[in-house]
Amino acid sequence: MKLICLDLEGVLVPEIWVAFAEASKIPELKKTTRDEPDYDKLMRWRLSVLKEHGLGLKEIQETIASIDPLPGAKEFLDELRSFAQVIIISDTFTEFAQPLMKKLGWPTIFCNSLVVAEDGEITDYKMRVENSKLTTVRALQSIGFETVASGDSYNDLGMILAGKSGFLFRTTEQIKIIRYRITVVTMTFFFFPTFNFPPYSFS
Ligand SMILES: [Mg+2]
Repeated sequence: MKLICLDLEGVLVPEIWVAFAEASKIPELKKTTRDEPDYDKLMRWRLSVLKEHGLGLKEIQETIASIDPLPGAKEFLDELRSFAQVIIISDTFTEFAQPLMKKLGWPTIFCNSLVVAEDGEITDYKMRVENSKLTTVRALQSIGFETVASGDSYNDLGMILAGKSGFLFRTTEQIKIIRYRITVVTMTFFFFPTFNFPPYSFS
């Protein structure tokens, strides 16, 4: 039985942090998982920028309320869900995702959560599990699903490569090169298991 696993930002909706960078006029917040492979490093840095500017959850939610899904995204999801089971697997947070899920017709989403202080400052975040997209896909495979995944960023590569098939969607040239290198390394080990390939790293 097949299960479709979709990334959210950059695939079905615009990048939330890019929209917030524009709304708040803090251009450095445009950096996303397409630019930074280390999600923890990216999030810690984002939280420090928010603190520096005295911005919290309320300000980000106001921006999110003005974001619409990408053109055709809802129709695509509706059609896909008419003949397949679909789960959105995102590294975003419940506190950000809800208004967007409403606009997409309440699809199933697995994401993470924020730790928010009484004054609205985002003090921390909680990932459901480590390496959440790949771990989730592996768990779904362990209960009998074949997964097909699509996403646009570094953090999607694991679930894309682990599935029955997968697609990079509107990604960057840098990520395409990494995808190509992983394929070459995998094929090299498969066909020439004694080949001494240099250690590969995402960074
Ligand atoms: Mg994305």
